[in-house]
Amino acid sequence: METFAESGLKPALLSALSILKYDKPTPIQVKALDHLMEGDIDLIGLAQTGTGKTAAFSLPLIHRTHLEIKKVQTLILCPTRELCLQICRDVESYTQDMRGFSALAVYGGASMTKQIKALKKGTHMVVGTPGRTLDLIKRGILKLNNIRWVVLDEADEMLSMGFKDDLDAILDATPEEKQTLLFSATMPKEISRIADKYMDNPVEITAGQRNISAANIDHGFYYSAPRDRYRTLKAIVDAHPDMYAIIFCRTRAETKDVAAQLGKDNYSADALHGDLSQSQRDYVMDRFRRKQLHFLVATDVAARGLDVNDLTHVINFNLPDELESYIHRCGRTGRAGKEGSAISIIHRREIRKIKILERKIGAPIQEQRIPTVTEIIGKRLFRGIDQLEHQPVDEDQVARYRDAVQKKLSWLTKEELIDRIISQEISTLVEFYKHLPKTKPVERSDRRDRTDRRDRRDRRDRQEDYADSSNFTRFYINLGSKHKVDAKDLLGILNEHMRGDSFDVGKIDILKSFSFFEVENSVAENVLKAFDGAQIHDHKLVVEKSKPQPEISLKKKHKKKSRKKRNSDHGFKRRSKGKKRHRSK
Ligand code: AMP
Repeated sequence: METFAESGLKPALLSALSILKYDKPTPIQVKALDHLMEGDIDLIGLAQTGTGKTAAFSLPLIHRTHLEIKKVQTLILCPTRELCLQICRDVESYTQDMRGFSALAVYGGASMTKQIKALKKGTHMVVGTPGRTLDLIKRGILKLNNIRWVVLDEADEMLSMGFKDDLDAILDATPEEKQTLLFSATMPKEISRIADKYMDNPVEITAGQRNISAANIDHGFYYSAPRDRYRTLKAIVDAHPDMYAIIFCRTRAETKDVAAQLGKDNYSADALHGDLSQSQRDYVMDRFRRKQLHFLVATDVAARGLDVNDLTHVINFNLPDELESYIHRCGRTGRAGKEGSAISIIHRREIRKIKILERKIGAPIQEQRIPTVTEIIGKRLFRGIDQLEHQPVDEDQVARYRDAVQKKLSWLTKEELIDRIISQEISTLVEFYKHLPKTKPVERSDRRDRTDRRDRRDRRDRQEDYADSSNFTRFYINLGSKHKVDAKDLLGILNEHMRGDSFDVGKIDILKSFSFFEVENSVAENVLKAFDGAQIHDHKLVVEKSKPQPEISLKKKHKKKSRKKRNSDHGFKRRSKGKKRHRSK
């Protein structure tokens, strides 16, 4: 089947499809239409959102619905309110030229009375979340005796959201004689169990690729230390001026944090998480759909059933704990044949997960290079210049000011004017990146990050990376344990004063009233400048270069300290081979 016309769908449906500019059926639609236009054999569709699966199952069922019987003939179950509404919207658009067809969404968190009233009026199709649907069945409001089709949409999501018992109860209550359709992006064991229990020799179809439509989604990843994640994200976002993306985080706190940081950096971003009320959630979603927000920072749970087209990117700020979620996340982009990118920010240790994911999705996930400051500024500049070129000119308005402005700028040559335009375009970014290391277009992370456990592990890793380097300068500082300073504090103080420098920190020896620390030679002079005149509370800091300490004496000191049962203040304990290094940011 090449065209919808060949499928035999009713003319009213075909005319709606042509209004919607659905020129030809997607692969899953071809297979579903072939199977569902007649007969009653059950169907399993391995497909995720974006493949056109809503039309794939709803068009043939609408076509086969007895319009004259205004009773529920199709029951569609899906995981979220958003998806219910989306499916209903799609069905309404397919039936815009079909008189008398009606579909109703029922979901929790909305007035039960209204839904009961609408059900009592009669409808052909109910699209519901499992909880509310079961509730209405138990109340005897939603009658199932005319049901001919049951569709489980995003079945894996429904199970992972804990709807297993509700689904069992609903499926048990539906008539024996019906056709069951199950759509799922993944096939965990529980889905197979449902299929075995409630479906009769189902036919299995896939949307081309078994799960992810790899052809139109580019998968990539960036390495980043945990504490640099936001800076890496910002570099990626800066390098893609037209990005319209969902950024997935692991926790609610992280979504709030990332959205707030993006907001602070002048991006239109907001968070979608479980702490929001339904109306707040709707408000955020509405703004995102209208593209008033370019970034939606969400948890997996909050983003369930979320249906937004035209996303250019899905960003995994963290890889999901459940690798199956990767497939769901990525399915938000590259929809209906459009191009999309899925980007993950990962720790070096997570490369193993990337390999597993590559096998799962059957496509390569390529390592990407973090763009340099020059590249970022260039991209953003040219986007601004492009906008300037295409800026519509309101002749009447402009005419009022043209002469005065021309007179004011007459002393500038064309070149000087262009220089000023460039400077204006890039000034904010240059200012932002000025203090940052050239190869890392990033901003400072806060102290809280440094105390993060993963961070500490990361730092320890890096200590190993730098274990054999000896290009360090040793410094004396008049702060010690009597000032309640330990190695971690000293690292913090160094970071505070060395704003903007990224450098390695070597050994730190905390003694009673003073300490020693090492930093890589390239920033040694900066240390002296940074601490010149510095003080903490009323304590004037003295930082001076000190002689490198021979290994042997350090060993002795270690022994002495342990004999006296003093706490080791070296912070990061020495291991048997080589020097260990801290790395400051
Ligand atoms: P779905 O996978 O059902 O969420 O559909 C994803 C998007 O593709 C929706 O915006 C649909 O309107 C659109 N779509 C579905 N089928 C077609 C088609 N045959 N041609 C063009 N767009 C389609």
